[in-house]
Amino acid sequence: MTRKIFISIIAVATVVFGAALMLIMGVLHGYYYDQYTAQLKNDAIYISEGMKISGEAYLESISRDSNNRITLLDEKGDVLYDSEVDASTLQNHRERQEINEAIILSEGTSERYSETLSVKTFYYAMLLDDGNILRVSNSTYTTTTLIKNILQPLIFVVLLAIILSLFLAFRLAKRIVMPINMIDLENPGSQNEYEELAPLLARISVQNRQIRKQIEELNRKRQEFSVITENMNEGLIVINNMTNILSCNQSAADILGISEPQTDRSIFVLNRSEPFRNAAEGALAGERSENELVLNSRTYHIIANPVMRKGKIEGAVIFLLDVTEKNERDNFRREFTANVSHELKTPLTSISGYAQIIKDGIAKEEDIVPFAGKIYNEAARLVSLINDIIKLSQMDEGLIKEEQVYVDLRDIAKAVAERLAGEAANRNIDITVDGESATIRGIHYMIDEMIFNIVDNAIKYNREGGSITIKVFDGPASIVVEDTGVGIPVAERERIFERFYRVDKSHSKDIGGTGLGLSIVKHFAAYHNADIKLESQENQGTTVTLTF
Ligand code: ATP
Ligand code: MG
Repeated sequence: MTRKIFISIIAVATVVFGAALMLIMGVLHGYYYDQYTAQLKNDAIYISEGMKISGEAYLESISRDSNNRITLLDEKGDVLYDSEVDASTLQNHRERQEINEAIILSEGTSERYSETLSVKTFYYAMLLDDGNILRVSNSTYTTTTLIKNILQPLIFVVLLAIILSLFLAFRLAKRIVMPINMIDLENPGSQNEYEELAPLLARISVQNRQIRKQIEELNRKRQEFSVITENMNEGLIVINNMTNILSCNQSAADILGISEPQTDRSIFVLNRSEPFRNAAEGALAGERSENELVLNSRTYHIIANPVMRKGKIEGAVIFLLDVTEKNERDNFRREFTANVSHELKTPLTSISGYAQIIKDGIAKEEDIVPFAGKIYNEAARLVSLINDIIKLSQMDEGLIKEEQVYVDLRDIAKAVAERLAGEAANRNIDITVDGESATIRGIHYMIDEMIFNIVDNAIKYNREGGSITIKVFDGPASIVVEDTGVGIPVAERERIFERFYRVDKSHSKDIGGTGLGLSIVKHFAAYHNADIKLESQENQGTTVTLTF
């Protein structure tokens, strides 16, 4: 812009300068020539007056001092006298324009140009009273010659003018453009020097506002999207049809074990396993697919959906759902059902076996009472098993509506020890309850059940003549049950809390039990926010600590 303005100014200056020069020269030329002719006429009148007094001799005298050429002619145009040339050598001048005019109009003028001499001669002729014609002429250089003569100073002036106009044009162009450059396009209304720019700037203002609004809207949407995607546990990956990642949330990055969500790279860089590849490729081929992917011993469900626009596949959206727990739960349920059926079937088989023998009358008279005893025991086992299952499923369903009360752990421990005293005595096991009283808030039957199951295990998995110490502490309230039994192998310590899980099944078969005791403890402890700690030395003993 500065350049254009600069060039325009220079062009205008050149044209104006040239035109002014020519105009001035033209005006000067006209003025100069008029003056010249008037001067000649004055001289002629003056000479004619002199001639009236002194006759032709006056011509001789004046021609010496005058730089005009003076010529006297008769009425026919023949030269009578000439101040520069011998009159007899000159031809008749009748046809010369100034002479002709003087004869007819009593005065005449003309100008003639001699190219060889590069001079212009002005003539003035006047008709004298005696009929002769007096002509005064003078030569002067032409304008071109004049210009040629003053060329040096002229060039100097022109150069000066050019330099001056270059300098001024440069400054002017800069000054014109400066306010435009100074306009703050972010805030265009504020400092505008040119009112011509006002509509444009107003428009920019409006557009700025629109753009700002659109950017805000876009940012808001992007934030919304990232808040949603970043806060979901599911991995979300969006790819284009070249398999390049357009968006990948933190969960997806975590699942695939990469430090940060990556974009602009192929999705196959993230994971090369077959289910993952199949999902992405399938979606890009236009097919929704669901696959399972196992990563770091966790199971993920991959759902891949194609993204279609105007019937064309533009990319794909891939979801990664962690289904480890769900799968575990499903497996657990399946196992639980199988276990429950099995556990129910065993006592029922023996019940129906004994019952059939009695019913068919095969049983000896003296066997009937022991058989009935066996049936009674198995039925009791069934009832206790079913009670345990009911307790667990109530926990599962969150159906516990019992009110919380204050209970003393030591009181409960004493009551449990008393109830189990007979069983312990059968195996010569000594039980002692020790420690301080500790009051907690909770559901009485659950706390009783937990302590009962732990002490029951301490008896069942103890050795003949072993011992059990129950200690209660306050702040934080806790109960410690220490036995001198077989201990629990390290590998089993997690699993014994699973439903129906029993260590060394063949051995525990003789002891009897369903493997539900500790899972009930686990659930009830969780309900009370209690912590279970297990310490054990194989063949030396086990210590179970419950801290509330
Ligand atoms: P239930 O308690 O339902 O009659 P159970 O005693 O076999 O049956 P849990 O109380 O859940 O079931 O115990 C699971 C397993 O953990 C037991 O079978 C046993 O092998 C082991 N166990 C539990 N407590 C002890 C302990 N104090 N010492 C050694 N092993 C134990
Ligand atoms: Mg038990």
